[in-house]
Amino acid sequence: MSEAEAGGQDDLEQIAAEVRVCPKCELARTRTHAVPGEGDPHAKVMLIGEGPGWHEDQQGRPFIGNAGKFLNELLAKAGLGRDDVFITNIVKCRPPGNRDPLPDEIAACAPYLERQVAAIDPEVIVTLGRFSMSRWFPGERISRIHGQPKRDGKRLVVPMYHPAAALHQASLRGAIEEDFAKLPRILAEAERDREIESERDQPQGEQMSMF
Ligand code: URA
Ligand code: SF4
Repeated sequence: MSEAEAGGQDDLEQIAAEVRVCPKCELARTRTHAVPGEGDPHAKVMLIGEGPGWHEDQQGRPFIGNAGKFLNELLAKAGLGRDDVFITNIVKCRPPGNRDPLPDEIAACAPYLERQVAAIDPEVIVTLGRFSMSRWFPGERISRIHGQPKRDGKRLVVPMYHPAAALHQASLRGAIEEDFAKLPRILAEAERDREIESERDQPQGEQMSMF
């Protein structure tokens, strides 16, 4: 492993260690375990859900209940396994009774997510549900924009329905399955864009070195 790779790994572990003892919002008082997120520290695809549910809170791991099982099936449709991606949530601690996370809780938790995105540097971010969607698509409606990638600097962000909602609604289930089936193409597009960018940077570097 190169130094840079080791650095990325350390960053994520440092973030997770801080999350596990974080006191920054009210959710700290009712959690059993904080859920920092897990997966490949160099994942090209990062998925961001809403917040831990009961099972996740018990075990400190993301998406391990029914929604998680469905998410595994969806990932398989895209040719991806859990180990290929990184999965986390917009808030790292369970809202009591699975209520919606509050704006001040989302704001308190946001720096952890930003640091995770920076450490992993994914080519594609998939938002699951409206709370993570709002971070990149404020004011948008999921029914209008789901499955449509948007560029954010050097990555593509794709909003998708939340698997827990899609699991129980036939119409949404078809939509989320189609959106996940598009993921390989979206990833290929993101990878092509990065290659073009690095090729564009190269000649500039050579020109600079002439002076
Ligand atoms: N729902 C989420 O949004 N996240 C989880 O980790 C589990 C269920
Ligand atoms: Fe800290 Fe986020 Fe948990 Fe709130 S939800 S206590 S900000 S880790």
